[in-house]
Amino acid sequence: MSLLAPVPAPTDADKRRAAPVVIAYQVDKLPPIDTGFYERVRSNLTKIDEVIVPPRDGRSFEVPAGHVFRILSVEGPQVGDLNLWNAKDLKERFFSGKTRQLHATHVTTGNKLWSNMPYLRPMATITHDTLGWYGFDKDGGGIHDVIGTRCDPYTNGMLTGTSYDCYCHSNLTRALMKGRGLSAAEAEPHVHDVMNVFMCTGFTRDTGQYFMKASPVRPGDFIEFFAEIDLLGGLSACPGGDCGSSKSGDAAACYPLKVEVLRPDPAALKGWSSPPRAGYAGNHGLK
Ligand SMILES: [Zn+2]
Repeated sequence: MSLLAPVPAPTDADKRRAAPVVIAYQVDKLPPIDTGFYERVRSNLTKIDEVIVPPRDGRSFEVPAGHVFRILSVEGPQVGDLNLWNAKDLKERFFSGKTRQLHATHVTTGNKLWSNMPYLRPMATITHDTLGWYGFDKDGGGIHDVIGTRCDPYTNGMLTGTSYDCYCHSNLTRALMKGRGLSAAEAEPHVHDVMNVFMCTGFTRDTGQYFMKASPVRPGDFIEFFAEIDLLGGLSACPGGDCGSSKSGDAAACYPLKVEVLRPDPAALKGWSSPPRAGYAGNHGLK
């Protein structure tokens, strides 16, 4: 039998496939979102900083714990690739895989962005999403995925034989270099799998392949986050533009993105504190 020939199914294949679905993580054990708290935070916000991310480029931004940040569409439909680090310790960073398992392939209001192990705590909570109406379309596409990685010169060079320096991976590397005064060699290993802000993606029903389609985002749309810890953010305005085709680089229409950092009324934060890192003692079976 040749390597890629179909494997014959057993006679009870249908029965095996009909096993019931079990949600893998006991997410009902997560603390329920305190909607009253986040509504109080949102009710009185003062803008303290603003960063424009130029098309096909990246920028970093700082958000103190207990503050809010928004990523806004301006001028035209544009996808953004978001990285988050603990502003005081770059080793703690956004963990897209665990966020996906705890919430879903695509995130929206009420979901949290979790950090990597051994920290594993909420870095940010999504407090508003003007694209929350989209849900999942007939192709299975949704918005703001945590399943993609980021476009990069290594994969695209392998697939197309071309070289391009402004994919999101490189844009985030340059953003972190500038934000922390690092060399490229120091910054690049800190760049990690992203939250694909405003991007419309899914997996094809028949072959399970990652797909994208034109983002429904329009100028004025935004997604808003509450910073649970001191954050350093990195955002790339993807060279794929709205990611409606496989065109990238200078061939796609690209627009800037805007980041706003907002300070709530301190009274709204009364009694709140940053979440602690996960409780595991780190023994790993060692005596
Ligand atoms: Zn990209």
